Amino acid sequence: MTAPVETPSAPSTPDTPRLPARLEGLAQLARNLAWSWNREARMLFRAIDDGLWHRLRHNPIRMLQTVAPARLQELASDPTFCARYDRAMQWLAAERSDEHTWYTRTFPELRGRTVAYFCAEFGIHNSVPIYSGGLGVLAGDHLKTASDLGIPLVAVGILYRNGYFDQRIRVDGWQEDSDARIDFGAVPIRPLPGKDGAPHLVTVRTFGRDINIRVWTMQVGRVPVYLLDSDLESNHPDDRPLLSKLYSGGPAMRLRQEWLLGVGGVRALRALGIAPAAWHANEGHAAFMMVERVRELCTQGMSYTEAVRSVRNASVFTTHTPVPAGHDHFGVQEVLQCADGVWTEMGIDAETFLRIGYNPGSGASVYHMTAASIRLSRRVNAVSRRHGIVTRDMSQALWPGRAADQVPVGHVTNGVHLATWMSNPVMKLLDEHLGPAWGYSNDPALWEQVLTLDDERLWYTHMRLKHTLMRQMREEARRAFARGSMEVQQLVGAGTLLDPSALTIGFARRFATYKRASLIFRDVERLARLVTNSARPVQIVFAGKAHPADTPGKQVLQSVYQFTRDPRFEGRVAFVEDYGMHLAHLLVQGVDLWMNLPRVPLEASGTSGMKAALNGVPQLSTVDGWWEEGYDGTNGWSIEPEVDDDAGDRTAERLYTLLEQEVVPRYYDHDRNELPRRWLTTMKHAIRVAGQQFTARRMVEQYARAYYAPSILGDALPDDPPTG
Ligand SMILES: *Cc1c(COP(=O)(O)O)cnc(C)c1O
Repeated sequence: MTAPVETPSAPSTPDTPRLPARLEGLAQLARNLAWSWNREARMLFRAIDDGLWHRLRHNPIRMLQTVAPARLQELASDPTFCARYDRAMQWLAAERSDEHTWYTRTFPELRGRTVAYFCAEFGIHNSVPIYSGGLGVLAGDHLKTASDLGIPLVAVGILYRNGYFDQRIRVDGWQEDSDARIDFGAVPIRPLPGKDGAPHLVTVRTFGRDINIRVWTMQVGRVPVYLLDSDLESNHPDDRPLLSKLYSGGPAMRLRQEWLLGVGGVRALRALGIAPAAWHANEGHAAFMMVERVRELCTQGMSYTEAVRSVRNASVFTTHTPVPAGHDHFGVQEVLQCADGVWTEMGIDAETFLRIGYNPGSGASVYHMTAASIRLSRRVNAVSRRHGIVTRDMSQALWPGRAADQVPVGHVTNGVHLATWMSNPVMKLLDEHLGPAWGYSNDPALWEQVLTLDDERLWYTHMRLKHTLMRQMREEARRAFARGSMEVQQLVGAGTLLDPSALTIGFARRFATYKRASLIFRDVERLARLVTNSARPVQIVFAGKAHPADTPGKQVLQSVYQFTRDPRFEGRVAFVEDYGMHLAHLLVQGVDLWMNLPRVPLEASGTSGMKAALNGVPQLSTVDGWWEEGYDGTNGWSIEPEVDDDAGDRTAERLYTLLEQEVVPRYYDHDRNELPRRWLTTMKHAIRVAGQQFTARRMVEQYARAYYAPSILGDALPDDPPTG
């Protein structure tokens, strides 16, 4: 471990009840989120009580609090359980050292040189609701992989006490949002001791007031995550809730959050005695982290120009947004108030201070977080090949006189954490087929062997996961109905009539309008014919949240939801509430086909299709984001972007044609043994391509080699954009 993690003076969470001595380590296991991607540990908690485990949504702390003591006593003398327990504990012990890891072997000279990773959200596990979607889940997968690889990474984020939000859909299809408050008794997050007995560790000045910040920590394998919290009595009442909500409260709140994240995060690491050698900002929200480091160096006597150069050399910036309007930006007057005169400490005037965030395309009244991040990071990357091209075009103005293809922005295509997203049964199948070490290999030849998987076993493994999905949908609906939060008229739309033998399409993502969730309903009659074909029926399962302030997104959601109640579809269109990591697991593992229809080029990468593919669920997608690299003609279906098709009519036409002529016939082409051999081939190719190219292991190794190591070792690059 790279950072000192002290024991808090007063634990804030109730202790788990007394455990039998033989199983004492369970409490410790439950408190490192690494349990969530260790199969042995996952199965251990499940084995305590399968039904309870599902009801508690896979929360091991709750599990230990809820399970009857007699049951634990019983397990303490169960040899199978104890053997599994011992293996899990051994693994946890090995996690304490980075000795036998990829990073230590590859870069022995970098051992102990910390990389700080800043992000506004982290999706590690469903029980810690401090993420809203793709960006957070990607950041979570990054941390898990850094832990697996032994990269000495520490993460900095925000403790959103009120989480993102829980979603409920009314009978009329309108989304209602309620706070997803963190249940501190049920998450492995604990406060770190503050300064001189006070709860806060650091203080940040903004908008004329000092804000005290308490720092909490959670452990993700070897990686500590530090989460900032401003809800302290010593703070002004208006400042206390500043960090409590994720992506809400409008730009004024966002600006303050980002200032606290960047400035407070750097100060927190200093206060903890952590000295990062490289700093990674995941998306522009974290740009002030670099500004704070410039300030630090200036106050230590360095000139502003030298300080900027030094900060640049050690900084990595990943951008995720493919359109100018999507980038974080604020009014310069607000930024000046927010920074509250900090430029005087840097020995510069306000104008020079603002120049860091100047974006030629946005004008002088805008402070642009992406421009600031690019100016202060020597190494900048987009998140897919296609997004790299788009980003070079977009940021060309920062390098006057350069052709777009000469703009020094690279790309590292996103990937997903295999052990998090691949289901246990599929992993087991691969264990038997590929040998025990397959999960740790990027070797393309190894993944080629997936093509020789046994058809029958792959099919029945998949069917088992599909049954699990449908059973869970029924159980959720049953419970929601029983507690009065679902009306009778909503039960069909919740998926209770779905049939495991019918081709099932999944579409789950944020309801941003560019994702075009309702495109498949463009021609209702044609879709109804497809869906209700009695010999070859098709079902569609939707899930996803609209941002609480995104009224157009909520309207799309409502229109999709209303189709679930449309008798023309005979109960074969469903919408499952409250999309989060828990539901994402069930869906990417349990549907037959993953559908993705973003308006090109608005999807920088997309990752849910990778998760599905790892489970043998092929994707049908417009050619955008990762699919531009990932689709090779064998592993799914693609829709070429059409020019002048803003309304999406031609994309919809192509979608119907593909479904009618290729997807459905292939799925229902069964042989004598009831096996869809051709479909199984597509499934295997989906696994092969995702395993070879789209795991977070490939992604984080690339960051380590091309971004972290050179940042730490100080390779010179001749590509500074002008800062003044
Ligand atoms: C993976 C994931 C996402 C991102 O999916 P996209 O394909 O990028 O839309 C969003 N939300 C959750 C809960 C996820 O698990």
